[in-house]
Amino acid sequence: MPKFLSALAAGVLICSQVSGVAFAQSDYPAHAITMIVPFAAGGPTDMVGRIVGERMARTLGQQIVIENVIGAGGTTAGTRAMRAASDGYTIMLGHMGTHAAAVALYPKLAYDPSTDFAPIGMVAGMPVLVLARKDFPAQNLGEFTVYAKRHAAELTMAHAGVGSVSYVTCQLFNSFLGFKPKLISYQGTGPAMYALVSGRVDYMCDQVVTVVPQLLSGNVKALLVATPRRNPALPDVPTAKEVGLPQFQASAWNALFAPKNTPQPIINKLNAALVEALDDETVRKSLLELGSDIPDLAGRSPEALAALVKGEIAKWTPILKAADQTN
Ligand code: ASP
Repeated sequence: MPKFLSALAAGVLICSQVSGVAFAQSDYPAHAITMIVPFAAGGPTDMVGRIVGERMARTLGQQIVIENVIGAGGTTAGTRAMRAASDGYTIMLGHMGTHAAAVALYPKLAYDPSTDFAPIGMVAGMPVLVLARKDFPAQNLGEFTVYAKRHAAELTMAHAGVGSVSYVTCQLFNSFLGFKPKLISYQGTGPAMYALVSGRVDYMCDQVVTVVPQLLSGNVKALLVATPRRNPALPDVPTAKEVGLPQFQASAWNALFAPKNTPQPIINKLNAALVEALDDETVRKSLLELGSDIPDLAGRSPEALAALVKGEIAKWTPILKAADQTN
């Protein structure tokens, strides 16, 4: 082919590829979006993903299908989301564990939470509570500590895998009090909570949204909420400071991420749908009744989330490296 013809053909090809990408972006979303949830159904991440995802889908005009990708404290899902196509059709509901704590706990983590993802926005903040089975022979943290030390060999704690919020926060709690329970791992705190309710484990830490219904039904008891103030959804639960453990502060966050290099117009559309969902009265009511914190407008931006991820990695890495993680 003469040189000028091949140059022309290449030019046409590039133009059609560029306009194809532009079309794909303006047309987005043309079919269902998969939202990867890194834990089992019925846990806090799953619950919040479903509440917010359903409302975002209405704005976007396409379904959002939740896919529970379990394993390795949420990092199996992180790896899967990182490797997905950057086309906006696979997004992930990550959290303080998958996108911050995992960095300290998995030396061979396949992804870098701060560079391998395009942040979409913060979904909800979730205070963490320490819970015991309802017939645990202690009414408060003081009695729990005495009993736990006396029965150290039998003490059991449920969690959702190394790096999960339930693992990280409860191991911190354990390190403050010198507990070394037998650790029992589940595919999420949905199944872990089930084990606690049925009395098969002694205690666990969990994010507020799945705690509220169980606590109000009297299925578990709460020893403390790890935030500076009591939670409006659970006004009877004392703070860590009130029970003499002021150093234990843990509020998890859940946020949406896309694989890096997802085009900005797609991120903008997803963020706008998230913002709209968080302003929806029904969504707000559900999230607030379940005790979560809804971010304000500034806190929902991709930039705010990018800064949060960096800050959280910097915050949790030394804490987790210092805390005794061996049991
Ligand atoms: N958030 C997780 C879940 O939804 C568990 C965890 O991080 O502890 O099950």
